[in-house]
Amino acid sequence: MNSFIDFHTHHPSREGEVVILNGTDTWGAHPWNPVFPPIEHLSKALAIGECGLDRLCDTPYETQLEAFRRQIRLSEQYGKPLILHCVKALDDVLRLQLEERAIQPWIFHAFRGKPQQIRQLLKRGMYVSFGFRHNTESIQSCPIERMLVESDEDPRPIRLLYEKIASLRQMDIEELAREMACRYKELFHPR
Ligand SMILES: [Zn+2]
Repeated sequence: MNSFIDFHTHHPSREGEVVILNGTDTWGAHPWNPVFPPIEHLSKALAIGECGLDRLCDTPYETQLEAFRRQIRLSEQYGKPLILHCVKALDDVLRLQLEERAIQPWIFHAFRGKPQQIRQLLKRGMYVSFGFRHNTESIQSCPIERMLVESDEDPRPIRLLYEKIASLRQMDIEELAREMACRYKELFHPR
């Protein structure tokens, strides 16, 4: 049986789960509190992030822009994917991606937007990561080749989210798990 991959979480793995643990496997300066971890953490991480822009948080927007730009450059320099936190700031995220000529895959984490927004992200080569809070139509319409599954801070086992997504997409849960294992290989090239 496949294990269930959790592409972004704040909880250590349970039986049958493979997790990408925030602050252990991935490191970043979050827009809520953009403090940079030691550079050796970043250089050894599976991915850079969470990082990005959040227009609803208290951190001055200029500070967020500067921290995000710096992490885009680190992601490119180290050749690692970037885990994106984006709240009401997609225009600036897309602009910075172009300005920095970023080619690493970006993972739009905790995506709650509508299907139209997914199309914009796909045009830019992004992966769309869905959590327990999501738009149902977006789950149904996102191409499986660009879709990821994450629990983030939700304490429920990731298997429950796999069950829900599989049922919404009318696919077998094992098939969904196999697809997610492919996404994991594409993104993180495990040996
Ligand atoms: Zn998180």
